[in-house]
Amino acid sequence: MSPVPGILYAANWKMHLGPVGAAEYVARFLARVPASPGRDLWFFPPAVSLAAVAAAFRGRPDVLVGAQDAHWEPKGAFTGAVSMPMVAEAGARAVLVGHSERRHVFGETDAETGRKVRAALEQGLLPLLCVGEKLAERDAGRTAAVVVRQLEAALAGVGADGLGHLVVAYEPVWAIGTGRNAQPADAAAVHAVIRDWLAARGAPADLRVLYGGSVKAENVVALLAAPGVDGVLVGGASLDPEGWADIVGSS
Ligand code: PEP
Repeated sequence: MSPVPGILYAANWKMHLGPVGAAEYVARFLARVPASPGRDLWFFPPAVSLAAVAAAFRGRPDVLVGAQDAHWEPKGAFTGAVSMPMVAEAGARAVLVGHSERRHVFGETDAETGRKVRAALEQGLLPLLCVGEKLAERDAGRTAAVVVRQLEAALAGVGADGLGHLVVAYEPVWAIGTGRNAQPADAAAVHAVIRDWLAARGAPADLRVLYGGSVKAENVVALLAAPGVDGVLVGGASLDPEGWADIVGSS
């Protein structure tokens, strides 16, 4: 990573790209994207592809590989799950926590996000905590209340030291995978709420807050120019290596 936090481009591949396809992706991406100061590139492949992606990016200090999810227990009878120590062993240095698909498709609770954040920090992984409101909550004027509730639950018991190892992503649920992104001014307003909440708890001023939700080549520059937006978390538009190379080259 950059010594001073740079713009962070995070790619969430969701349930795409197994180990073979992931290695091909990285080769095509590397052919187009040299390391650049002031820019960090994080990739979140499926768990089965972590080791292949970490190996393919070896020698690129601007790249960090992370897991899309991991259980809070280090081991045990949790069929189908992977633990923080396991993903770390496979090459992950970060982990997504509380992605809206974990919350709203798999039923992850606020309390579970808290257990995952604490387990990640104990393992030495950087949690990338996702928060964001659903459309009905936005329409009811409850965006700030929802985001603060999610922060309080996920970061209960996490002190200033832990907050120093955290990245937050504001991802309005209604914008994820829908093609409809938040307007830069709306994102900036929610980022300010998140920053104020974190600052009141002793978070470092350089803690990065990303925006996610239908980011693409056409809107990335405007979203990154919004006050308080330190980077982007991108799903669909990160799946094509050439397209993603163009997006990360846009700053
Ligand atoms: C995401 O998965 O975090 C995301 C923002 O997806 P998309 O870019 O496809 O909206």
